[in-house]
Amino acid sequence: MPLDDSDEQKLPVPQEIQDAIRTLLLWAGDDPTREGLIDTPKRVARAWKEYCAGYDEDPAHHLTRTFKEVGGYDEVVLLKDIPFQSHCEHHMAPIIGKAHIAYLPRDRVVGISKLARVLHGYARRLQVQERLTAEVAQCVWDHLKPHGVAVVIEASHACMTARGVRTPGVGMTTSRLIGCFLEDNRSRKEVLSLMGF
Ligand SMILES: [Zn+2]
Repeated sequence: MPLDDSDEQKLPVPQEIQDAIRTLLLWAGDDPTREGLIDTPKRVARAWKEYCAGYDEDPAHHLTRTFKEVGGYDEVVLLKDIPFQSHCEHHMAPIIGKAHIAYLPRDRVVGISKLARVLHGYARRLQVQERLTAEVAQCVWDHLKPHGVAVVIEASHACMTARGVRTPGVGMTTSRLIGCFLEDNRSRKEVLSLMGF
């Protein structure tokens, strides 16, 4: 049964993009003209626009609305276990994981869901985990100007678990610490233990 029988209102997919995906189906060893694959090129093309929706946004935009009234709160703000999905730029294969984003506010805070939006803005692009981690941290650092930022990302890479060395279950952890979390031992220990490390 077709998943999308009405093509109207959907993003138009140029012929050359559909042809490219048909070529890939052939290369994979299948027959792009068989029934189940007829609409696959359009579906794949639209799915990739979603996976890579981050190219159409500036993640920093989510940090423009800040709050100065924090009731004297001057401790770490942490958003923990944020699930995300990205794709590796080397194989275009899924990267699935969770991120922990913390900052020590200087004089302003941001709505907590905004940190997740920043993450998704960078994750919805072709990535390497190291750069994703650094970009999220740098964005928070530049736009909230806090005392410190800590970002830790744990993820598994389908290009490692489903192909190549095929090691399911293996995960990769990356971190970027800036400001007080980099320079001050006690702050670093505190934030990492809040994150569960
Ligand atoms: Zn890869």
